[in-house]
Amino acid sequence: MYTDKTLVCKECGQEFIFTAGEQEFYAEKGFVNEPQRCKACRDARKNAAKPEREMFDAVCAECGKPCKVPFQPREDRPVYCSECFAKRRGE
Ligand SMILES: [Zn+2]
Ligand SMILES: [Zn+2]
Repeated sequence: MYTDKTLVCKECGQEFIFTAGEQEFYAEKGFVNEPQRCKACRDARKNAAKPEREMFDAVCAECGKPCKVPFQPREDRPVYCSECFAKRRGE
């Protein structure tokens, strides 16, 4: 049977428990490698892989309202707020 095992996280160097339940789960899934990182570091990596989209402040070229766009606004290209953008697309 499995017993809890203490492993050392290679990311932060902290010890963490690879529980019997997790070992069983790993064995079931056929994973041969033990986890390299503690849960906190694994979660941090997971979040880092999916960064939140950076939003840039812009001013709508149509209505002049401040808005946010998911790209760096450029001087030579008008930026529209979502309402005006939808309106223009609907035209
Ligand atoms: Zn860690
Ligand atoms: Zn607008």
